[in-house]
Amino acid sequence: MTDCLFCRIAKGEIPSKIIQQDDRFIAFRDINPQAPVHVLAIPREHIATLNDARSADTIGGLILFARDVAKSEGLAERGYRVVVNTNKDGGQTVFHLHAHVLGGRHLEWPPG
Ligand code: 5GP
Ligand code: ZN
Repeated sequence: MTDCLFCRIAKGEIPSKIIQQDDRFIAFRDINPQAPVHVLAIPREHIATLNDARSADTIGGLILFARDVAKSEGLAERGYRVVVNTNKDGGQTVFHLHAHVLGGRHLEWPPG
């Protein structure tokens, strides 16, 4: 998807603060952080939403990758949140599957 923002970030065509990557996933800092730590973890493969995901290996891999990001950001013990906003009511604005990794402060529940 040449016109997808996160595909372009994954290819390095648009600059971002990358903190971790491997052959399948990439993690970079959110441009508009909602917590002291706010990282986006994405598959390199273009998948528009969670509804479109077919591979348990990709989804499982993405969650484990997000978990590893949280650990490397020093959040594992005190806690963090991994969020996948999906479509309109979920608040999704970029249609390339991504997991938000949020932490570094107490996160309220329920979310707004
Ligand atoms: P969504 O609302 O789709 O769940 O999350 C999209 C996220 O992407 C938002 O938190 C937004 O701040 C972030 N974002 C949008 N454009 C860019 C960008 O160009 N660079 C980075 N690093 N983050 C972006
Ligand atoms: Zn994409």
